[in-house]
Amino acid sequence: MRGTVRHLARIHHVTAISGNARRNLDFYTGALGLRLVKKTVNFDDPTTYHFYYGDEEGRPGTLLTFFPWEHAAPGRNGVGLAEEVAFRVPLGSIGYWTHRLVEKGLAARPPAKRFGEPVLTFGDPDGLALALVGTTGASADPAWDNGEIPAEHAIRGLHGVTLMLADAAPTAAVLTGVLGFREAGREGSIALFEAGEGAGGKVVLHAVGNFLAGRQGRGSVDHVAFRATDDSEQAGMVEALRRDHGIVATEQKDRQYFRSVYFREPGQILFEIATDRPGFTVDEPKAALGRDLKLPPFLEARRGELAAALPPLDGDVPQLSTPGSA
Ligand code: ZN
Repeated sequence: MRGTVRHLARIHHVTAISGNARRNLDFYTGALGLRLVKKTVNFDDPTTYHFYYGDEEGRPGTLLTFFPWEHAAPGRNGVGLAEEVAFRVPLGSIGYWTHRLVEKGLAARPPAKRFGEPVLTFGDPDGLALALVGTTGASADPAWDNGEIPAEHAIRGLHGVTLMLADAAPTAAVLTGVLGFREAGREGSIALFEAGEGAGGKVVLHAVGNFLAGRQGRGSVDHVAFRATDDSEQAGMVEALRRDHGIVATEQKDRQYFRSVYFREPGQILFEIATDRPGFTVDEPKAALGRDLKLPPFLEARRGELAAALPPLDGDVPQLSTPGSA
C-alpha cells in the first residue's frame, strides 16, 4: 500500500467561514495572537476576502484561513463537518491561556484532558469551535510575537481537527492509507490519528452514528487540507485515492501559495491536498506578509474593481456577538 516515503504528512491548513471580516481579523490577530500572513481574495469568488493566519512565515501546519461572508447564515455542527479546530500551545502555557480567555469574555471552561493533554475549548465570534491543547515539545517551535502575548505562550500552529462522522472506519482508511496518519488511541467514540510530532499532526475522528447532519455556514469549517511535499508526491496520493478507495480528486488548481487537489472523503467532508511550495513569500517579503492586498496574476487587471467591492478593514471594531455553543 505504501508507494512513497512520507516525510511531511500532516495538516497543511484548515479553511473556515466567518461573518464580518474586520471582526475575524481582530479576533485571530488580537485575542489569539496569530499573524495575518496573507490578505488576498477567494480565487473562486474574488469579491470576498481570503485571510490566512499562521506563524511568522505561514508555515504549512500553522495555517487557519477564512472566507469572510458578512451575511452568511450561521452553520450548525453535525455529521459530515469538522466540528473543532485545535491549536497547540506549550504545556506550561495552559494557565496563561485560561486567564486570557476569561479576560476576553470567551467563556472558556476549565481545562479538560483529551488523550492525556490539557484542552481549553471556546468559540470564535462566529461560533467556530476552537481548542487550545497543551502540548509537550511545542515550546521548541518558532513563536510569533504579536506585541501583546508573550512569545513563550504564543500559539505554535495547529494541533489538529476533530471530524464528526456517522462511521469512522472509511475515513480512517483514507487517513492511514493515503494521508500518512496512524491510529494512536481511542477514548469512547473518539479515535486519535497522528502523523508525527510537529504542527498539524493530529486528526480526531468522532463517530456518532445517525446523529443530525451538519449544515455549513458562518462558524463552520469549509475544508481540511493535508500536505504534499511536491507535485509528484501529490500525484502519488491522488493515484492511491483512486486505486485503493475509488475516490477521484479534482484536477490540480494553482492557489498561488500552493497547488491543490480536492476530494470528498467517505464521510463527505471536503479534503484538499496542498503542496508545501511555493509558500507565502512568493509575492511579498517575510517582513511585509499580510500588509497589502495580494492578488494572483489572473485577477491583477481587476484590482481597482475588487478593492472597491471588498469591505473596508479600518475604522471601528464591530461588536463581538456571543460565541456559539457549538
Ligand atoms: Zn484550502
